[in-house]
Amino acid sequence: MKFLADRMLGKLAKKLRILGFDTLYFREAAEEEILQRVRQEGRILLTKDRDLLYKALKAGLDVYGIKSDKWRSQLLAVLKRFRISPGSLEPFSRCIECNAKLEKVDKSQIESLVPEYVYRTQESFYRCPACGRIYWAGSHVEKMKDLLKELRLSVDERVEKDVGKL
Ligand SMILES: [Zn+2]
Repeated sequence: MKFLADRMLGKLAKKLRILGFDTLYFREAAEEEILQRVRQEGRILLTKDRDLLYKALKAGLDVYGIKSDKWRSQLLAVLKRFRISPGSLEPFSRCIECNAKLEKVDKSQIESLVPEYVYRTQESFYRCPACGRIYWAGSHVEKMKDLLKELRLSVDERVEKDVGKL
């Protein structure tokens, strides 16, 4: 499943990348270009822009209108709408900044590129082939785990509330 998030959804785009989804995001792009990329690359357009939503629908494209202003609710809505289960995710596989697939890199190659403490305490490193950014378990993985925990809690809360209403 590949997405294109509109310019109002920068945070959502980053979270989707953390979870492993191929997600394009442009701060500035003409509507025509956005619609064209969605069509050519078989993406799902995520948008808060009503005009863009209608144009995409009219063009017969896959589009999902985001209502919330908060990234947590936005992400939950996307996961629910497309029935994405936590088990099917590929976390840590993509660069948060530029969406490229990360490549495993040998520890000896990046000694000069990461802080000494990180080099001493971590074994697995990944590099973004597009921007050169180095990822390791410490920051990336911990943030990811927090996010997944948060999402599961939100889902559980919602279920409990629904049950409470019965
Ligand atoms: Zn990158």
